[in-house]
Amino acid sequence: MIIMLKPNSTDDKVIHLSEVISNMGVEVMRSDGTEHTVLHLIGDTLRIDKSIIEADEIVHKIIRVQEPYKRANRLFKQEDTIIKVGEHTIGGDEFMVIAGPCSVEGEEEIVAIAKMVKAAGANYLRGGAFKPRTSPYSFQGLEDEGIKFLQTAKQETGLPIVTEILSHDKIQLFVDNVDIIQVGARNMQNFQLLKELGKVDKPILLKRGMVATIEEWLMSAEYIMSEGNPNVILCERGIRTFENFTRNTLDISAIPVVKRLSHLPVVVDPSHAGGKWWLVEPLAECAVVAGAHGIVVEVHANPESAWSDGGQSLKPKKFEKMMKEIKILAKMKGKRI
Ligand code: PEP
Ligand code: MN
Repeated sequence: MIIMLKPNSTDDKVIHLSEVISNMGVEVMRSDGTEHTVLHLIGDTLRIDKSIIEADEIVHKIIRVQEPYKRANRLFKQEDTIIKVGEHTIGGDEFMVIAGPCSVEGEEEIVAIAKMVKAAGANYLRGGAFKPRTSPYSFQGLEDEGIKFLQTAKQETGLPIVTEILSHDKIQLFVDNVDIIQVGARNMQNFQLLKELGKVDKPILLKRGMVATIEEWLMSAEYIMSEGNPNVILCERGIRTFENFTRNTLDISAIPVVKRLSHLPVVVDPSHAGGKWWLVEPLAECAVVAGAHGIVVEVHANPESAWSDGGQSLKPKKFEKMMKEIKILAKMKGKRI
């Protein structure tokens, strides 16, 4: 951290500020220029509250050199994080495909779709049992029963389960029954939930909030990791922009940016990004080429009658076709799929 002081700051005020900062546990190096005096802070500045320093009248400007996240930062762990779930890995040279309906709608439906996506090459099954809907009058999910149906689908196919958690009172249910716990875009900054999930021994699929910067997203990962859970998978699912033709705007550059800043795996959800079934394949292909570690795709046997997100769900045949293209691209990128 670098602190630039106002011109003509008196020596006794500079000494006083330096002492205040030293008492925060970092080393302060002073350099006097022709216009400004600058204080360089050396050590762990992550816990320093910038606003306390800003409150001092002699402070002109504070520049953070270090990112505010540590455990998620590639500077502190150079090698990629690789997470093993079931027979597959996420974050290494394997390309992960999570597929399934937006919502779990019944036992037979989820078992049938699980068999289908597995046959087409998916390695994880998704399906929402607890649904964060914009309207309280929309279908809210089958809840605990939905988790039971996902379990049946897992027993029938062997596919590990990925499903979204909405509140911390369900953590034990998820720990007992779910393989990857999803935190949705709307809960990306539910810090209490993130802290609780930091205490569990399950990978967390952390979706990017719809108005979150990459740094805020990584800070949310940091919340989970700082409580002891290192297994976070980041998921870019589109952000809100002025463009309203698509449901969101897929921030494709977030993939190489996150891979540069962090060692955590990063995957793409082209379904919630585009919001239209015919955009899913091209966006998924972009994700592979941009270097994503996988994709999360909504697939439904009958999108016209889906209980949620039918318009962005692929029919089985379309999913199969997309998988063929994805496999070619993933192999070209040196991935196993
Ligand atoms: C979902 O995956 O069904 C979902 C609600 O996604 P998001 O949190 O990205 O909107
Ligand atoms: Mn959905």
